[in-house]
Amino acid sequence: MSRVWNFSAGPAALPESVLRRAAEEMLDWQGKGLSVMEMSHRSPEYTDIFEKTRSDFRKLLNVPETHDVLFMQGGAVGMNAIVPMNLMNGFEQAAFVNTGAWSKKTAKEFSKYGLSRVVLDNANSVADSAVSCYVPECAPLLDRVNGQQMAYLHYCDNETISGVEFNGQVEAIASQLDCPVVADMSSNILSKTLEVSKYGVIYGGAQKNVGPAGVTIVIVDKALLNRALPICPSAFTFGTVAENGSMYNTPPTYSIYIAGLVFEWLIEQGGVQWAQSQAQEKASLLYGTIDSSTLYNCPVRTEDRSRMNVPFTLADESLNARFLSRAAEQGLVQLKGHKSVGGMRASIYNAMPLEGVKALVEFMCEFEKSET
Ligand code: PMP
Repeated sequence: MSRVWNFSAGPAALPESVLRRAAEEMLDWQGKGLSVMEMSHRSPEYTDIFEKTRSDFRKLLNVPETHDVLFMQGGAVGMNAIVPMNLMNGFEQAAFVNTGAWSKKTAKEFSKYGLSRVVLDNANSVADSAVSCYVPECAPLLDRVNGQQMAYLHYCDNETISGVEFNGQVEAIASQLDCPVVADMSSNILSKTLEVSKYGVIYGGAQKNVGPAGVTIVIVDKALLNRALPICPSAFTFGTVAENGSMYNTPPTYSIYIAGLVFEWLIEQGGVQWAQSQAQEKASLLYGTIDSSTLYNCPVRTEDRSRMNVPFTLADESLNARFLSRAAEQGLVQLKGHKSVGGMRASIYNAMPLEGVKALVEFMCEFEKSET
């Protein structure tokens, strides 16, 4: 069997040891004679799996007692509706930072529930790849948000499509804002340390750094559990889900089990600190190769480049198809950029080893030499 280096943006590569363990345990979980998929979510076996998964996640991100961790469904796009339904009671508007495709989608969906106020906007730079993509200056948020009775301020910490990542700018001003911060961390959760207490809600679909698709992780400040609109479905009401330990209805049991194996693996590697330094090393290697080449170019401003999703273009676009097919021949797959941006994108989440990135840069250098 030979496995490829999978640079998919999501669902993305999982640690090989996790997949091997899941395979070993598929038919008979720890001598119980059944698969985790077949367990009742209320059985003692599954309760142990679930509790350990939740407590390992809390440990990894150092989640304080003031915040609940919920395992929900609907993905991050579902959260574009679930968050407003949970936080808008008593409010008419919320504030949005628009840095690209995902944050824009969030602000658009919100207009079904209230008045969407885009308080910072650099998305045009994202649409036009000739212009540098960047994280906007966040200090003006204080003037634009405070005193406006905003239910919350939403931003996307890592724009998966354009490869633009915040580096603590919103966290740094969070305690001066007069509303809670809601962060979409779908594509960079567990890749850096966070001060969770600064956030009202952090959420993410699992299928990048957490596990398989199907579970959405939500970290929510307990102080926000009583702000749901009456129309909010019970299965999606944070307070109800929290009170029932994420078992108000059947949770995506198997996805949670795999997430638990990923958390155990991450703790063994050295936790989020390890992930952070590894991400830095992998990203530096790849951006370094791009910057020192005449063929490859990354449009994102240097200090705002994502450590998870690395977009790059080829100076001669007619080489794109050959680049992708020759990469695939070497077992380097899923490198095609998102259709709205074009070019290439290499997603290098926690489970992508340094070795995989080394294989990619080696190929890129060879390709440049042979084609230019
Ligand atoms: N936000 C971000 C930052 C994402 O990367 C994605 C998925 N690529 C989404 C939201 C949407 O997630 P889902 O498909 O799980 O709803």
